[in-house]
Amino acid sequence: MSGQSKVGGVEPRHVAERLARFGSSIFAEMTGLAQKHGAVNLSQGFPDFDGPDVAKRAAIAAIEAGHGQYARMIGVPTLNAAIAEGWAARGFGDVDPEAEVTVTSGCSEAIAATLMGLLNPGDEVVVFEPYFDFYTACTAMAGGTCRFVTLRPPMDGKGAFGFDEGEFRAAFTARTRVVIVNSPHNPTGKVFTRQELELIAGVCRERGVVVISDEVYEHLIYEEGMEHVPIATLPGMRERTITMSSMGKTFALTGWKIGWTIAPPALTAAVRAGHQFMTFSSATPLQHGAAAALRGAGEFVEKQRRLFAGNRDRLCGALAGLGLTVFPSHSTYFVMADHSALGLGDDRAFCRHLTETVGVAAIPPSVFYGTPGMGTAFVRFAFCKKAETIDEAIRRLQALRR
Ligand code: PMP
Repeated sequence: MSGQSKVGGVEPRHVAERLARFGSSIFAEMTGLAQKHGAVNLSQGFPDFDGPDVAKRAAIAAIEAGHGQYARMIGVPTLNAAIAEGWAARGFGDVDPEAEVTVTSGCSEAIAATLMGLLNPGDEVVVFEPYFDFYTACTAMAGGTCRFVTLRPPMDGKGAFGFDEGEFRAAFTARTRVVIVNSPHNPTGKVFTRQELELIAGVCRERGVVVISDEVYEHLIYEEGMEHVPIATLPGMRERTITMSSMGKTFALTGWKIGWTIAPPALTAAVRAGHQFMTFSSATPLQHGAAAALRGAGEFVEKQRRLFAGNRDRLCGALAGLGLTVFPSHSTYFVMADHSALGLGDDRAFCRHLTETVGVAAIPPSVFYGTPGMGTAFVRFAFCKKAETIDEAIRRLQALRR
């Protein structure tokens, strides 16, 4: 594995200072290593099967109908409407599809455009660690700085990752502009409880801070009785929250890169201020496909949810049987485990061994922490795959016994 300082495998001689320290994305690095060693790739989170036909047919029809020019900057009307309809249908409230919904190139661009649109140089962003790495890199692109609040694994190995209220409050300063909440959470699989979200919301209201709520895994919760609570639906939060999501995870179409934000007009203005000069608009035919998926692929989503729940159970069972401490994952594509009992070094060494010798690729999660030294005992596996892929990974993982 190359060092953090290299970008695309070369020294970052020409890379701007604010980005050089981020190095190459770990996902590209691990997927490359997985391919080189013919490893089962449980590193980057993407399914190894295709999305729903209804989406593909609608996108093809849009191409054939001549929808080949720039889409509206804010999104094609039918997609903006489908996003607003979906939100209302789940009881989250009415939103104006024209004034409050913006289509972006994946949730990735939503994160970048929003931070670019919101932050002034020196502004601070509170981020829970471990985190999705776009939050820190895009904050840096926008000239901001992150402050970290650590999510710690449950002491008893049961329950869920959690945070300390005092540490959360202590992360705020006079320069805090934004808190980023990601529930369900990558990489831990944590679903923030209503109580936790109320605590976060209360502090944000007190401090006059905006919330960016990344909800890309909103439809992938595996536990009976656990609910997805958008923080925007809590009292006093609609007017200070930018909710974002995308179709990639929900419909196993991560390569389409169609995402969106939902926010009141004053915050939507910030999103669009960034979006108009980053991509201006997203692929027109794929927006038509996304609208069809949102309106007509409910059965696909449910089937996929059952597949991933089964994968999670089998993979977690196998990892526990091999001596790893597996932390419960209730959602997302991922599960985190503690590998230290196996004595194979830190997370990078462990993942290198796993990929090169065992033939299974995973992610070393220390790259998802802002606090130095954190996460080195952990490993993140993706289970968003066909059942047979997970079974093959489990078969190979047995080599860890020897
Ligand atoms: N947010 C989180 C938490 C993610 O895990 C990902 C994808 N790994 C994204 C955003 C990016 O979403 P998209 O693929 O729609 O750009």
